[in-house]
Amino acid sequence: MEAVAEDSTWRQLSDEIAASARKMVRSGLLWKNNHGNISARLPGRDEMLLTGSVLEPFDPSTLTRVRLDGEVLKGEIAPMAREIVQLHAVVYRHRPEVGGVVHAHSPHATAYALAATPMPVYTMALARLTSDPLPVSRFGPRGSEQEVESIAELLDAHPGSSAILLRNHGLLAFGPTVDAATRLVFAVEENAEGSILAGAVGGAKPIPESAIRAAQERKREFERLGPISR
Ligand SMILES: [Zn+2]
Repeated sequence: MEAVAEDSTWRQLSDEIAASARKMVRSGLLWKNNHGNISARLPGRDEMLLTGSVLEPFDPSTLTRVRLDGEVLKGEIAPMAREIVQLHAVVYRHRPEVGGVVHAHSPHATAYALAATPMPVYTMALARLTSDPLPVSRFGPRGSEQEVESIAELLDAHPGSSAILLRNHGLLAFGPTVDAATRLVFAVEENAEGSILAGAVGGAKPIPESAIRAAQERKREFERLGPISR
């Protein structure tokens, strides 16, 4: 396979990753220690660009190029960041359509992961992005074989789900691009925070499955129609 230069594709993905990191750090979505990581699939290759395990400060020159079997092709993965490689690679291996993966410990989504409670879809924003309640992985140390195996099983068992709660750990979200995966992280966090707040006033009510399908159909229809302009 021909070598990948740090060409415009690389720069474009790196910019997308930097924008995602900035957005999450600024919004306080990464909880207290700014732990989080982002990857982008290199188009047409079994490879990804991967950040380290903390997103603030983020330095694009520290992005590593990693094969989906875990072999590092360029750059250096810090000892403590070894555990994140398979967390991302397993998603690309099981979902060929995925172009971006984000892992974060967003506070309210992580509350669901700590309670080991699958997250129903409560908000219309989330209904547009994922069709299944978010499943929870089996317990395993961070990035361990047990955790990765459980993620792989959930990816296969829940084809309509674009995010997984990692038990006692955090959130893993994915989409066609890094930007899409980032938007999903925000939508999941909003869904989680809203439902926890709603617990004080009678409890949130999940959106029926048929309405979720309709919301997604409506989104596809809007995309097909394109922008309104004059
Ligand atoms: Zn983590």
